[in-house]
Amino acid sequence: MTQPTPIRREGPHLAAALDAAERGWHVFPLRPRDKRPALHGETACPGTGDCTAGHRKWEQRATTDPDRIRRAWSTGAFNVGIATGPSGLVVVDLDPVKAKDPKGTPDGATSLQALCERAGQPVPTTYRTRTASGGHHLYFTTPTGVRLGNTAGRLGKHIDTRAHGGYVVAAGSFLPGGAYEIVDPTEPVPLPEWLCALLTPRQPDRGLMAAPAPVRASRYAAAALRAETAAVAGAREGSRNWTLVRAARALGRFIPSGDLARHEVEQALNSAGLAAGLRESECRSAVASALNWSIANNPGRPA
Ligand SMILES: [Zn+2]
Repeated sequence: MTQPTPIRREGPHLAAALDAAERGWHVFPLRPRDKRPALHGETACPGTGDCTAGHRKWEQRATTDPDRIRRAWSTGAFNVGIATGPSGLVVVDLDPVKAKDPKGTPDGATSLQALCERAGQPVPTTYRTRTASGGHHLYFTTPTGVRLGNTAGRLGKHIDTRAHGGYVVAAGSFLPGGAYEIVDPTEPVPLPEWLCALLTPRQPDRGLMAAPAPVRASRYAAAALRAETAAVAGAREGSRNWTLVRAARALGRFIPSGDLARHEVEQALNSAGLAAGLRESECRSAVASALNWSIANNPGRPA
């Protein structure tokens, strides 16, 4: 006699929470058929259980402990939230076009594709889910030593990112309009360096000069050129002028030292500015004067 296959007792929501926790992701319950946390807010804190020593919010209460997860999900069909920060994840959220968007507005997936093309990089293949509204979530692991927060529209139209202070709705959750489903089940890959550069809060300009050895400096300059070019290309209408000037000033520092050629920087930034929607004449004059400023203020490295 063969043993009958054991029946999985847990409902789909508990199963989804346990699956996520098995990957090392910290989960917490969201309201049934909703995206909002099911946990009490600070004003309604009973001061018991997890909050005995003071209120703890969802980011702190999120867990990978199967026993705690079973207990929490035994009381209802809760959706599953993944606290991205404690999970060591950066999730790129590609939203669909909204009804109120002007005609021709790109969705998040199109914006990401364009950003990758301008940066000369492939669209990363990684763990990916489809959201209830038809968007996509791309999961990445956070590089060691980097602490990222959330961003909205920084990478492009309809692209948000979630890291510390943020959460995403996990696959296996349901909203009235649809389900969250896994599209690509592969393990999340590390966040590509060039994307990380775009999401890292900008260092003071001095930081760009911190490249130690000359050999490394060239590679560093090349990485800075890629990152700054991508930042300009992805800049939004309100900030693209200043982003261009800031990029030219940052990159201009590599010209006196011979790490970058002036024509190379001009060409890259002018095309990126055009891609961001600036006029060619605007780009040329902004880049030229910012480079002049930077070169005048940055003598080359001492021999
Ligand atoms: Zn509390």
